[in-house]
Amino acid sequence: MKIYISGLYSGTNPQPGVGIARSVRAAYPDATIIGVEYSNRCSGIHWNDFDEIWLQRPWEEINIEVHAGEIKKVLDSGALWISSIDLEIMWLAKSFPDGHPNLLIPPITALEQVSKPAIPAHDGFPVKISPFISTQVSDWELHAFCREHNWMVWLKGPYYDAVRVRSWAQLVEMRHLLSTAWATEDLFLQAHVSGYEESISLSAYQGELLDCVWMRKRDLTEIGKTWSGDISEVEPELREPLCEIISRIGWTGGAELEMIRDTGDGMWLLEWNPRYPAWIHGATITGRNIPAKLIEAASGVPGQKAASQGNEFTRVVLEIPLRPQYPLSPLPEPFPGEVGHSMKHPSGLLQFAGMLHKDEKSGSKKKTTTSAATPVPDTFIEDLNTFDLASLSTPTRIFLENTAAKGFRDASARAEAASTDTIRVTNAYSIKTDPDERLIRLALESGFYAEAISIPEVRKALDVGFRPDQIVLNGPAKWWQKETLAEHSFFTVFCDSLNELDQAIDRLNSGGLQTEYIGLRIRTPNVVSRFGISIATPDEFNRVIDAVRRIPQTTKLGVHFHMASSNIGIRSWEFLFQSILRWCSSLEALTGRLIEVLDIGGGWFPEDMDGGADEGRLKKAVASIPDLLPHVKQVLCEPGKALAQPSMALAMQILEIRDEEEHVHDVVVDGSIAELPMHFFYPHRILTQNGSDLSWTPLERGKTRLLGRLCMEHDIVASNVELPKSARVGDILVVCDAGAYDRSMSYVFGRG
Ligand SMILES: *Cc1c(COP(=O)(O)O)cnc(C)c1O
Repeated sequence: MKIYISGLYSGTNPQPGVGIARSVRAAYPDATIIGVEYSNRCSGIHWNDFDEIWLQRPWEEINIEVHAGEIKKVLDSGALWISSIDLEIMWLAKSFPDGHPNLLIPPITALEQVSKPAIPAHDGFPVKISPFISTQVSDWELHAFCREHNWMVWLKGPYYDAVRVRSWAQLVEMRHLLSTAWATEDLFLQAHVSGYEESISLSAYQGELLDCVWMRKRDLTEIGKTWSGDISEVEPELREPLCEIISRIGWTGGAELEMIRDTGDGMWLLEWNPRYPAWIHGATITGRNIPAKLIEAASGVPGQKAASQGNEFTRVVLEIPLRPQYPLSPLPEPFPGEVGHSMKHPSGLLQFAGMLHKDEKSGSKKKTTTSAATPVPDTFIEDLNTFDLASLSTPTRIFLENTAAKGFRDASARAEAASTDTIRVTNAYSIKTDPDERLIRLALESGFYAEAISIPEVRKALDVGFRPDQIVLNGPAKWWQKETLAEHSFFTVFCDSLNELDQAIDRLNSGGLQTEYIGLRIRTPNVVSRFGISIATPDEFNRVIDAVRRIPQTTKLGVHFHMASSNIGIRSWEFLFQSILRWCSSLEALTGRLIEVLDIGGGWFPEDMDGGADEGRLKKAVASIPDLLPHVKQVLCEPGKALAQPSMALAMQILEIRDEEEHVHDVVVDGSIAELPMHFFYPHRILTQNGSDLSWTPLERGKTRLLGRLCMEHDIVASNVELPKSARVGDILVVCDAGAYDRSMSYVFGRG
């Protein structure tokens, strides 16, 4: 009996070849096991269960037709082939479209059924698939997906490769790396599921499930690979549908179903791998030799039974001697000043993936129909059309008047709609976000209060026409320059520390501070923030209770909580909001004081506050208050960027077009990241104007970079856009979504 096993990489992210060989050896002591590898740097080639090593050129050098022919000869000679390299499996399934009884891999139709991220085969299996989105949609939609899923998302390649991305800049960088490596734009983002990692490993032959086991990861490596685990039976209610699926899709070979058990005991299917897991020998030593079952079915020769040595396994690191014919590679040559050791997977698999993918594309001519350009609201265009852009000296910020006004109107309507018989919802415009007088005036006209974090901001609000009793004071330094302001009675003052609260109480008692409400900003437990008063320990909570009890009865009590949902994500925000309601309810019970104003802060990305699919978000939050805090009369909402961000655009001009081989690579513009400091945090929609009919179109995704005018490496205004063919030097590009912090935090740089 001759058995070929490929995939012998045995580093920290191992392939299963060595484990399979150990299991096969345990059942068939006399079999000839031949290890197949594509690099002499895979340490598994030295493992002593392999009687021979069949070493091939790396994937990017190999002649794959010749290789397929050689494999056919091997199979025809009666030898069995177990592949444990995903891409080799894919390629073999295509190279042997009618299969081969000795080739122990699934047919191509079955592989299609388990392809990520949808894994169509899971139909009938009681697991869920985590939400995902193709990266071919626009940046705007990708950013929304990340916010929706709390920035707990994975960027995944077409076959394997997954990186956790936690910020927009990281997403853009990793997308570039992965799409370059895999030679495709067809990646996807998937929401992270947190829970326990469990999996099923199985053997099947021509649609018959031979055996399967359940494994729970008990210890993980730094990159999340199994280090130890326990093995148990697959429950009948899962085994039965699994049997049915295996038969429906006609599976042959090994497989691993990687799953997550969430905290509510729900099961999520992450991957269905077309091969055994690298820990497969861990099952064998518990008495369940899964690979042996496959050999038995394919050869008709029964293997020796495995003895159970308990139901748990762990891994260790072993040193083994080398096979003399495959000595270690020479040490790397130094490059200036350094020596680099590469621990990368050395067999050229990535390049091979690129080749496979190109084949696939040219074969099926699959053309994507999704557009990566996000349309902008009509008001943007109406506003832009009121400017003669050619007459402006660029770069210049454009105030989109109707857009801004509509934003404030909508916010007022939203507050109105969310108000109830007992709770009035009021917006308070965050002046800090964008202190443009036009915006502060719009806030005043739209029935907003003004939210200030310093006395100079208070002065500005008063100058625009706000009354002192429409002012909400917040932040750690709200009394900065207090000598520049006459005494006023404010609407509410939220203290950022217990010291500040103590001082405020003294000033209230002495008449030095007048405000209808006094309150505290609460720091939510388990969330890292430099702001607010911590209530995370019983001691801290006690001190808060004592301080609140000292507040004079003549001043009413409020609580402020601000965690930007644009950072922590929408679902996290909703979760924290509910948690704050509970804390406040305890605070009321323990102090005997009633909370009458609840300030829910700002930090909304424009569309998240806006209707969208979730029109009732604010309404829902407000409606949930009375259950826990029945005395709240007023809810304050402090939008800043939700209103200011869309209110401005930045017009810039093309200074130079650098084209190479009929493709525009780089375009130099007179704008820069000095005018767009938020460039790293969220995507900006960019418009170009057609020279003849003056119509505006959003830029599609492409390979062109917009290089800013600054002589700075990181001044790249956009790195993945496609300019229209008609683009010329002197054309105007309008970068939208450039109000709010893009304006207030912009800096003067490179202007002489
Ligand atoms: C900055 C700030 C806001 C507004 O935040 P945005 O992210 O602009 O919505 C609201 N409240 C307080 C206390 C702030 O400091």
